[in-house]
Amino acid sequence: MPLRFYNTLTQQVEPFAPLADNTVRMYTCGPTVYDYAHIGNFRSFVFVDLLRRWLRASGHRLDHVMNITDVDDKIIQNAVALHQPVEEYTAKYTEAFREDCQILRLETPERLVKATEHIPDMVQAIERLSETGHTYDSDGSVYFRISTFPEYGKLSHTDFSGMRSSVRVDVDKYDKDNARDFALWKAPKEGEPFWPAPIGPGRPGWHIECSVMAIKYLGSTLDIHAGGVDLVFPHHENEIAQSEALTGKPFARFWLHSEFLMVEGQKMSKSLGNFYTLRDVLSRGYAPEAIRYLLASVPYRKQLNFTFDGIKSAATAIDRVRNFKLRLESEKFPDCTNENMAARTEAASRKFTEGMDDDLNTAEALAAIFEYVRDANTAMDAGEFCAGNAAAALELLGRFDSVFDVIQPTKQSGFMEDSEVESMIADRTKAKAARNFALADQIREQLLEQGIILEDTKGGVRWKRK
Ligand code: AMP
Ligand code: ZN
Repeated sequence: MPLRFYNTLTQQVEPFAPLADNTVRMYTCGPTVYDYAHIGNFRSFVFVDLLRRWLRASGHRLDHVMNITDVDDKIIQNAVALHQPVEEYTAKYTEAFREDCQILRLETPERLVKATEHIPDMVQAIERLSETGHTYDSDGSVYFRISTFPEYGKLSHTDFSGMRSSVRVDVDKYDKDNARDFALWKAPKEGEPFWPAPIGPGRPGWHIECSVMAIKYLGSTLDIHAGGVDLVFPHHENEIAQSEALTGKPFARFWLHSEFLMVEGQKMSKSLGNFYTLRDVLSRGYAPEAIRYLLASVPYRKQLNFTFDGIKSAATAIDRVRNFKLRLESEKFPDCTNENMAARTEAASRKFTEGMDDDLNTAEALAAIFEYVRDANTAMDAGEFCAGNAAAALELLGRFDSVFDVIQPTKQSGFMEDSEVESMIADRTKAKAARNFALADQIREQLLEQGIILEDTKGGVRWKRK
């Protein structure tokens, strides 16, 4: 079965291939930089990272654009309250977002673009929409008239045909019951920053930002447009209306939407106050790769309930793979090839691919890896895993890690719990007793990387933190 995705537009799972020159032209909605992002936001960015990595593992090239929304109602409100220019206010959170992405090992898109650096493009697009009769002005603002786009509602599969025309909405986020003509360009209120433009002073609405930057860099028709499920309506619906009104072409072939990170049955969100930033979680001593693993482990179209126990289980799962890799690299196996094991490794690799190809079913893909690790460990214990099986096993771990990227520990000191240190020292003592000095040395190195120094004394091993 080929690579396939659930397409929100058609409500079907469809085989995926890019339209031209094996390059996936993809746009994903980025953060609004008015505060630190929370780990709910990062669930959707981790999903996009998995998507990127799997598209590449499937042999495609990528041209991926992600926006940074660095002007919106909240940003202006907060910057004005702090007497700061918008640019200064957003610079701090843009930098924090970049840092957090790096900590979570999220690849940087080919183009990470700021809304405020594309204002003239947006003004031009609004002018063109006006020339073709899709807009009207009111009090210095420009609105998109949704009745001029008969397919309005096709992404959210909602019938808006009975809508009253010329009822407007100024805020960017609203629900389907409040579907209205939406603002493309907003006139400034007293004391608010604005950009001068032929259409009058103002600033762009959120939806036009994404349409304009997507078309500018990727052309009229994208292969994939993705974002969190809360963006289906109104954001993506409005993006379709503006873009297709501008170009007359289908805006995106595949629309992918990731589900929420939940806390006790509710969406993690700033407004509910039930959120943790990445920094909050790290300061409690959890490793970034455990958070990454947790966010990646549940298939993106299923809600994921956040708990700290969930991060602990993620850390345990990562340890299992790391220990297996350590065994592969350090143990001396019999000089042979076990054909059954070779077939088992191949089957695991196939199952991993099948899982990921099936609309990024990460749960299936991870099950393939962990069942394999269990079987291979059992074979090693029984002396049935041969030296000739090691290369294929390491290659499988490499494929797994090229997508999940959790094996390499993040270099940081002081985060290892005492009990974890003791348990690794016990493993090292066992390895020495079994005369596996290579493994013993590796464990010493691993501990050193975490800032733990061992001293072998007559009375046993003593350890301290650097
Ligand atoms: P914002 O910075 O508010 O524009 O949101 C950035 C991204 O985070 C959007 O794609 C949202 O859909 C997504 N998002 C917000 N809250 C959650 C959540 N609890 N779980 C998953 N994704 C979320
Ligand atoms: Zn967007």
